[in-house]
Amino acid sequence: MNDEEKNIPEEENENVTETEDEQETSLSAAEEDDEADDGLQDGADDDDPDNTRQFERCIMCGRSGKDAGNLIHMPGGLTLCRDCMQKSMDMISQQDFSNMDLSNLPFNVRMIDLTKLGQPSVPGQTGSAEKPAKKKKEKKKEEPALTLKDIPAPHILKGWLDDYVIGQEKAKKAIAVGVYNHYKRILAAPDDVESEKGNILLIGPTGSGKTYLVRTLAKLLKVPLAIADATSLTEAGYIGDDIESVLSKLLAQAGNDVEKAEHGIVYIDEIDKIAKKKNMNSRDVSGESVQQELLKMLEGSTMEVPVGAGSKNGMVPLANINTQNILFICGGAFPGLEEIITERLKQRSSMGFNAELKDRFDNEKNVIRRVTTEDLRKFGMIPEFLGRLPVVVTLDELTEDFLVRILKEPRNAILKQYEKLLAMDEVQLVIEDEALQVIAKDALAKDTGARALRAILEEYMLDIMYEIPKDPNIGRVTITKDYLEGHGGPIIELRGSM
Ligand code: ADP
Repeated sequence: MNDEEKNIPEEENENVTETEDEQETSLSAAEEDDEADDGLQDGADDDDPDNTRQFERCIMCGRSGKDAGNLIHMPGGLTLCRDCMQKSMDMISQQDFSNMDLSNLPFNVRMIDLTKLGQPSVPGQTGSAEKPAKKKKEKKKEEPALTLKDIPAPHILKGWLDDYVIGQEKAKKAIAVGVYNHYKRILAAPDDVESEKGNILLIGPTGSGKTYLVRTLAKLLKVPLAIADATSLTEAGYIGDDIESVLSKLLAQAGNDVEKAEHGIVYIDEIDKIAKKKNMNSRDVSGESVQQELLKMLEGSTMEVPVGAGSKNGMVPLANINTQNILFICGGAFPGLEEIITERLKQRSSMGFNAELKDRFDNEKNVIRRVTTEDLRKFGMIPEFLGRLPVVVTLDELTEDFLVRILKEPRNAILKQYEKLLAMDEVQLVIEDEALQVIAKDALAKDTGARALRAILEEYMLDIMYEIPKDPNIGRVTITKDYLEGHGGPIIELRGSM
């Protein structure tokens, strides 16, 4: 390259092309460039002996490597500056090129998939103009309508749930049937005998897996799920969330796709907190009134729902959502309900010759299974509300044995998570069964069901997770009952001695 060429003013330098020799130089320079970014060859590097690259120009904006920074070398001998590369990528991701006539472009550009840059090239894949368009077309393809065969039968649904939810056999069965019937009803031809909406009421102690059951179900069915808390709901116009906020959440979970949201699941937790307040002199705006307002939504109606916000106001766009095919599941612990049930059972048995059986109800386990609508009315739920939740499912209190199983058996069990974490350090984690029982006992004492398990285990594991990575020779760590009870440390075995 001579001095004349070097001094060409920028405006005149637009059509500068490299000679074959120069191209070779720039390529070999790029090969040596250790700092090549993203697998691309950068121009104007320090190793370029002839400084040839500073005369290359971006084919789009015409700026030289000097002005635009390192240029990117594309297949076919094209060079692009980083700004134009970014612009091209933005354009490609936003536009539909299917109908674009590329022959009119001022330069000979082959369309390539820029998102693949930096990845190893696949032989025979040169990239073509049809490719992005093809992808778009595939996306637009209508999904085939769901048929009854697509809905998993109750036994299959329960089988799926078994992998995650331990115990609660009756609840899993009931919910599997309830969900199956719900989606069957949606598919039924409109002229058929119209079956009633089968919303579900889950009753069970805190931490017994109500939310977990619903969450797992929605994940398995791949339907959007919104979880709302009844305690935050108030009658429209009062401080708190309007009823519609529940549907707003569902719409957001469905990516603002109304149709998708209309086949989703809404779980309203702490439903017992909107029971009728006793001895109220003022208006019960967070109790009975909320139950009244929920009626329409539960039974199926079209509601105006704020998109992306919790409450309606002039600034928020509204969407119409029909709740007819949304499955509503309400859940709560209903503290005090067991006493209401026991009382009823006792009263009934005190009449006639069953009188001597009266006391046995006091010690009966899971008396909650005997719940009736009448008991729930006594608790403070209004009959119309209960009428909209025809499927009542009860969950049992978790025993120590169940808590131990929850620690180790579910597909995503907490113990499995710790085993996996330590396996990444090539350390085997063993927890003795007796140690698991200690953790389960601790959790039972907290009276929050399985919810306490993670926190308890995390506390015990903290030191281990801190110390183990310090020594690469450790091959196995065994957690014993003694360690958890504060008599000594865990058993540590070195790789050679195992
Ligand atoms: P609640 O009944 O109060 O809604 P959750 O469903 O929130 O209780 O349970 C808390 C956590 O305890 C869940 O995230 C889950 O990890 C665990 N859990 C509770 N019950 C079970 C169960 N039966 N099987 C497996 N894990 C459970």
